[in-house]
Amino acid sequence: MKAVFNIKNMVRESVDQLKPYSSARDEYVSDGSEMIFLDANENPFENGVNRYPDPYQRSLKSLLAEQKGVSESNMLLGNGSDEVLDLIYRAFCEPNRDNIITLPPTYGMYKVLAGINAVENREVLLTPDFEPNVPEILQAVDRNTKLLFICSPNNPTGNTFTVDKVQQLLESFQGLVVIDEAYIDFSEEESWIGKLANYPNLIVTQTLSKAYGLAGIRLGICYASEEIIAILNKIKPPYNVNQLTQQQALQRLLNQDAVATEVEQILRERTSLIEALNALAFVQEIYPTDANFVLAKVDDANKRYQQLLEQKVVVRNRSTQPLCENTLRFTVGTPEENKTLIAILKQLP
Ligand SMILES: *Cc1c(COP(=O)(O)O)cnc(C)c1O
Repeated sequence: MKAVFNIKNMVRESVDQLKPYSSARDEYVSDGSEMIFLDANENPFENGVNRYPDPYQRSLKSLLAEQKGVSESNMLLGNGSDEVLDLIYRAFCEPNRDNIITLPPTYGMYKVLAGINAVENREVLLTPDFEPNVPEILQAVDRNTKLLFICSPNNPTGNTFTVDKVQQLLESFQGLVVIDEAYIDFSEEESWIGKLANYPNLIVTQTLSKAYGLAGIRLGICYASEEIIAILNKIKPPYNVNQLTQQQALQRLLNQDAVATEVEQILRERTSLIEALNALAFVQEIYPTDANFVLAKVDDANKRYQQLLEQKVVVRNRSTQPLCENTLRFTVGTPEENKTLIAILKQLP
């Protein structure tokens, strides 16, 4: 019989016991009314950022809740999704005891964070068509396996994993399944945030770094059950999302038309980049993509990478990644950049 998932059995003991730091702004946040705040040792002279930011980013979450159809108590915001991912390790993985599963070729930060947190990283390669190898993954699980990272659409391959495969993993794996949706806004596929109520072990991360064009402000979003969010809130630094970031994120989220226009342009440019790559003799394969980049297999990735660098074009050589021999990853640029890239590619000797 399948054990009932209980988050209480997942959380690290030290975190379970923890009394979180209570900041001045936990108790009172300015609501615009005429209160005198003498509780946080701030400089009282207004300059726009002299006050500590809202530790729970209430305005931002309330807008996100409306736009995403997810309640605020199911959200945690972080200094980029990288911070959110680190918080997940620190909440659930006991150093030098627990392990996690990643599915290479994939986003490099999962492995780095495992190293930082002294957590064993069990790597289960994707299948040759870049899908999760469900039987092998389930084989790799033991009682100390806390997290399974699923990046979909996947970086660097670009594809979205089959719903059926992800569903099997959510249902069969007794730990937490983290679905990283950094590229979801470029995809036709549905986000897993709509399924949070069905899976108590599901965590979805998103970011404003890609489609929203705000990599510089660092804002990552974590969606999960109230219980998981409450645990993460206990260990997050109180002021992890600064005031300027909260303001810029709000403005951008209120301007969905601008975001949509840019995403449409990027997708159009992606199509013309794929067409151009297809016509090149040294390009051997172009992998299907649901993201704002294209992974292509070439005759000699190191050579092509160097040639592009000489022409002042920087792409990502992914050749050292498993299943990615001789591949280059091209991020889709502006129409102008794309035109230049294509012209350069056509003339490579
Ligand atoms: C770019 C990227 C991120 C973004 O991380 P931020 O810290 O939010 O900028 C997360 N996951 C994947 C797979 C990415 O490619």
